Amino acid sequence: MDHINTVCVQGGYKPKNGEPRAVPIIQSTTFKYDSSQEMAKLFNLEQSGYFYSRLQNPTSDNVAAKIAQLEGGTGAVLTGSGQAANFFAVFNICTAGGHIICTSEIYGGTFNLFNTTMRQMGVETTFVPNNCTDEELAAAFRPNTRAVVGETVSNPTITVLDIERFARVAHAHGVPLIVDNTFPTPINCRPFEWGADIVTHSTTKYMDGHSSSVGGVVVDSGKFDWTKYPEKFPGLCKPDESYHGLVYAERFGLGGAYITKMVAHLMRDLGAVQAPVNAFILNLGLESLHVRMKRHCENAEAVAAYLDKHPKVAYVKYCSLPGDAQYALAQKYLPNGSCGVVSFGVKGGRNDAETFMNNLTRCNIATHVSDAHTCILHPASSTHRQMTDDQLRAGGIQPEFVRLSLGIEDVRDIIEDLDQAFATI
Ligand SMILES: *Cc1c(COP(=O)(O)O)cnc(C)c1O
Repeated sequence: MDHINTVCVQGGYKPKNGEPRAVPIIQSTTFKYDSSQEMAKLFNLEQSGYFYSRLQNPTSDNVAAKIAQLEGGTGAVLTGSGQAANFFAVFNICTAGGHIICTSEIYGGTFNLFNTTMRQMGVETTFVPNNCTDEELAAAFRPNTRAVVGETVSNPTITVLDIERFARVAHAHGVPLIVDNTFPTPINCRPFEWGADIVTHSTTKYMDGHSSSVGGVVVDSGKFDWTKYPEKFPGLCKPDESYHGLVYAERFGLGGAYITKMVAHLMRDLGAVQAPVNAFILNLGLESLHVRMKRHCENAEAVAAYLDKHPKVAYVKYCSLPGDAQYALAQKYLPNGSCGVVSFGVKGGRNDAETFMNNLTRCNIATHVSDAHTCILHPASSTHRQMTDDQLRAGGIQPEFVRLSLGIEDVRDIIEDLDQAFATI
């Protein structure tokens, strides 16, 4: 079996004799067949094949296959964004009348999705602290709970999910653990190895890595046995009338049911596909993911150590920094490095944080993280703007809190930039 660095470069697409080496961009909405009978088999899911790019496209499938291999999963589907990935991951198994449990330290967009939009759709979410006890977590379950959700390393608070523990409690209650693995990427953590069942990513971040294309992915481990709980997961275990009574878990097995349903049902009806050209760009990012992640982590470790000693810094949150509250968990799940995102508090509070940021020259103020360019953001006035102060605090965010995403530049230049900006406050 190939090592993960090789999968980054060569996974998924395997060109045959005389075929293009790069993943070809199949920029076609539709595919031609010789007979209506053949087409009918595709529509009945009796035969696999391409017919319309809202459901499947060869370019996207090649790239999804690479990501499935990187995560050690049985299948994956690319989505138009990370938001769509998290929505699909949950909605595929939890519809109106259902309930999920989610850790409170998560990406602001995911919080809004669960707390507002999915609530409006009839899906309730209970948020639990990342450091809740097993008993507190167990107490959040209801008869209609369908999944537990968390982020391997949370954006922006850099809190590490105790995946093994959350998986154990989720499984004891007969539901899967869904983990958003955007920040570490499979280079630094493979949640399936710790018991997670479904993994999602915003591929917009490190996987693309060049602020070039918005995208997401959902990966299935193929390990969760839906058929043990047919009442909880009727979408997978009971006949789908929109496909003439097909039962996904029977027809496609544990390794295929979840992703096939997502494509055949959610993509068909909601259509949040990733365009083939975006999948192509994403794949270019994946080819260097292993090289870039190493540099992101080295830069972040150096900057975290620098900030930790700086007199104008109130606190630093970086799970790979010795002494950090998350250090032990990070050593367990992310021994080779976590991610390039370091969060810290500016001692002077909100105004000094803003002055400091406005005086940076190499670090770009951007609503983005996790790409080649170093960027910086003030979550309280941007991504987490919709949250009340209490919700902000529950999510671990203070007004002076700054999120710095280290790129792959020369770290000496970044530290010099930070130094001169600190000097202005
Ligand atoms: C950015 C992000 C998302 C949302 O992804 P988009 O591609 O922006 O839709 C979800 N989860 C995490 C952890 C993120 O950082």
